[in-house]
Amino acid sequence: MTARPENAHQARLLRLLRDEGPRSRAELGDVVQLSRSKLAQELDRLVETGLIETAGLAASRGGRRSGIVRLSPKLRFVAFDIGATSIDVAVTNGELEILGHVTEACDVRQGATAVLDRALELLGKLRDEGLIPQVHGTGIGVPGPVSFREGMPVVPPIMTGWDRFPVRDAIGQELGCPVLVDNDVNIMALGELHAGLARSVNDFLLVKIGTGIGCGIVVDGTIYRGVSGSAGDIGHIRINDGGPVCACGNAGCLEAYFGGAALTRDALAAARSGRSPYLAELLASGAEITARDVADAAAAGDPEAVRLVREGGRHVGQVLASLVSFFNPGLVIIAGGVAGFGHTLLAEIRSVVYRRSLPLATGNLPIVLSELPGTAGVIGATRLISDHVFSTA
Ligand SMILES: [Zn+2]
Repeated sequence: MTARPENAHQARLLRLLRDEGPRSRAELGDVVQLSRSKLAQELDRLVETGLIETAGLAASRGGRRSGIVRLSPKLRFVAFDIGATSIDVAVTNGELEILGHVTEACDVRQGATAVLDRALELLGKLRDEGLIPQVHGTGIGVPGPVSFREGMPVVPPIMTGWDRFPVRDAIGQELGCPVLVDNDVNIMALGELHAGLARSVNDFLLVKIGTGIGCGIVVDGTIYRGVSGSAGDIGHIRINDGGPVCACGNAGCLEAYFGGAALTRDALAAARSGRSPYLAELLASGAEITARDVADAAAAGDPEAVRLVREGGRHVGQVLASLVSFFNPGLVIIAGGVAGFGHTLLAEIRSVVYRRSLPLATGNLPIVLSELPGTAGVIGATRLISDHVFSTA
């Protein structure tokens, strides 16, 4: 059984040590505002449960030297970040530093059993390397809507064979530890909050543009999930009544303009018509054209590819301008497979948002690309589960 804090003071101390690293008793006392004897009592209990340990003496601040405490170096959190076309498995220590990380291509449509079995096999590899004496908690991200309370995906459009599969309970039983499941966009937002550009920002939006388009909403340092867990599902906000038909059955959704499938469709059309010499040549060579090729073509200066990226940025910006007016965030982070489109995309999004939102909302609003490509999801998944393990809930 994973040890847990017994009260809110202990929970607070554990999160402080997770986020700030080893600290002296005197420093902790300054932050948590407990009497010296009460603090000593709580820390002693945490040492007894094995969650923290003493680690020598701090430099003197005048008077007696204060003892340093840190999270137990044996603490391990595991992350499964399941994407539409990839799977990432990572293990961290208590401070959520990544100790081991494996990633491979994986089609989520193989279904829950096959994909989760593969995740467990990859975890087994990390275990064989001696990285995981014990698992204290596992966070899982999946590319679709999740009932957070039940720990399962609910009618996920791109996750064939996953509807209402009890992911949390199945993995909890397998690994014998607490497990939480959330959608991949929310865990990326938590990763940015913990280790990315949002570290010092309590209210922000993370827009993920990949196979699907979604938005993580962080309010006061916490993920906002809405009543049923579908908050932030911005891919199906309508841009235009007469627009292309979307996978959801409606027409003109943002995702039908600029999701992975839409971009592949447009790239293929540009290649076939010859409007994009770069993509036409690629197609002629027998290659399968993907969204990534559009990024490469744009980087190589192919005008049609640049136009596609700009148009996509304009559509994202159009939706984002409304969100900014509504939510007044302190930061917007753009993440996902489109990071490869870089500053062409960012410039277009910025120009639309700054033009269409009121100056009061955008006067101090950075719109930036994620600086955690490839790791935001796994860090966020361990942040999610460690928030739970280091709580009295
Ligand atoms: Zn749609």
